[in-house]
Amino acid sequence: MEDFYGLTLSHLEAQIGALGKEKYRARQLFRWVYTLSNLDFSEMTNIPKGLRTVFSEMFSLATMPVAEERHSRDGSTKLVLAAKDGYVIETVIMPEKNRVTLCVSTQIGCRMGCRFCVTGKIGFKRNLSAAEIVGQVITVREYLRKAGKSPVTNIVFMGMGEPMDNIDNVTTALDILKDQAGLDLSYRKITVSSVGLLDGLKTLDAKSAVLAISLNAADDETRSMLMPINRLYSIGKIMDFVRGFKGTKRTRITFEYILIKGVNDSLDDAKRLADLLKDVKCKINLIPYNPSSHTEFERPEPQQVDRFHQYLLDRYFTVIIRDSRGQDVGGACGQLGMGYLGDAASHGGTPRKKRTTSPEVTS
Ligand code: SF4
Repeated sequence: MEDFYGLTLSHLEAQIGALGKEKYRARQLFRWVYTLSNLDFSEMTNIPKGLRTVFSEMFSLATMPVAEERHSRDGSTKLVLAAKDGYVIETVIMPEKNRVTLCVSTQIGCRMGCRFCVTGKIGFKRNLSAAEIVGQVITVREYLRKAGKSPVTNIVFMGMGEPMDNIDNVTTALDILKDQAGLDLSYRKITVSSVGLLDGLKTLDAKSAVLAISLNAADDETRSMLMPINRLYSIGKIMDFVRGFKGTKRTRITFEYILIKGVNDSLDDAKRLADLLKDVKCKINLIPYNPSSHTEFERPEPQQVDRFHQYLLDRYFTVIIRDSRGQDVGGACGQLGMGYLGDAASHGGTPRKKRTTSPEVTS
């Protein structure tokens, strides 16, 4: 049985066409599943009963089991979802004042090895399929609906994994999420964050999604120390890509900058960052580091964060301090998954928790 959530509308039309049935049935299915949130084939009453049975035998609409959920004091919820092969997928729901953002994962583990990141310590296990990426969105939609909570309005590809290292499945998932016959999410509501894998980034256009570059340093020496991928895709190469990116009038690339005590948080670092981005239409997110027992780095003092922030504000940058959400329930990306995936033996069996990182659960 094929996982429905990995099928674009055109793939679905092709499959239904191959059965000798009308292609518009694909649009009907998309509408039932994505627009009307009905995951029961037997209730899709504008489709003939016999065909409903055929579809129910062809396609799975099952959502992913929630292996664990943790509720943070800041309102965010981290879900650990069980994949079919025993691995687990971390996804984070972050309610804000006027929106609900979902942070999805694109890989199990990650091969980029960023030194500040817990997922980087796990190493790469496998890519998520498009069905598993879209499946996170649908699983969370059902989870929130049952809890009587507000639905997801925005999606960020900033969970476990480097999206551009799984470009085919990420592109398929973006197509499904944005399809007007289904969820119809605007590209402005979806952010894809990358360490700067240019081969993947060059395949995207301004309407694929909002692009975010995980920069974290404005000089190659510091960035290569923090992010080994910088040796391949240096800051200069990334900036060449950014300057050549053909956007719309409104396109602004986001730069993520994790502030780490004594590493990249000085005023000299702020000056280097300002010099680097002075001619780029961009937004800067400053993220004070969220310490983990798995990494050696520390969070900067609040005054240092404020000084860094003010330096950029004084130079007319759009710059926001964004705190990592859910620090009390497993911290930054991958931190919760580390408890499950730190032991490679977790592959292939029932998800098992090896070690709990930040055990406090508030509700
Ligand atoms: S920060 Fe992102 S790209 Fe780097 S190791 Fe972590 S998940 Fe991978």
